[in-house]
Amino acid sequence: MDIRAIEDHGYTLTVENPSAREAEVIAAAMECVLSRVAVRLRFESEKGIVTVTGSLSAAGISTCVRCGADTEVVVEGPVALTYVKEPEETGESRELTEEEMDLGWYSEGTLEPLDVLSEAVALALPDRLVCVDSLACEARAQALLAAQDAGPEPEIGLKALGKLHFSS
Ligand SMILES: [Zn+2]
Repeated sequence: MDIRAIEDHGYTLTVENPSAREAEVIAAAMECVLSRVAVRLRFESEKGIVTVTGSLSAAGISTCVRCGADTEVVVEGPVALTYVKEPEETGESRELTEEEMDLGWYSEGTLEPLDVLSEAVALALPDRLVCVDSLACEARAQALLAAQDAGPEPEIGLKALGKLHFSS
């Protein structure tokens, strides 16, 4: 989307019943199977500085990093992002200032609302996705560890043998 169009009228991105493309972008950012989403982002621009404010609420099913079970991932909260024109290539590298690290860049005078949405979702994600029910999660994780420590279970071998006997 052209920055000048945002500068003139602003732009509002509303996602309630996501299109296939919108759902794909959000699910990819959340690394999950999306179950619900509600987004309202308002784009405003003045003197080339684009601010994006609004709210984001989405949920889906992902995988717990601790126990491997399916678990719900929820992103929720206000959005406040700022985009400025990408600095000219000077050929020499320089350190980013702390302020710049909180800024997004747009190039060639355009900013894609879905890219911004993807970034807003990524920023709102929990650092580490684990089950909400931490006791059950812990129990599953312990069981996984125990199974690993025990190595291949002899019982499985016996069961397999039994199957062979009874199926012949
Ligand atoms: Zn878990």
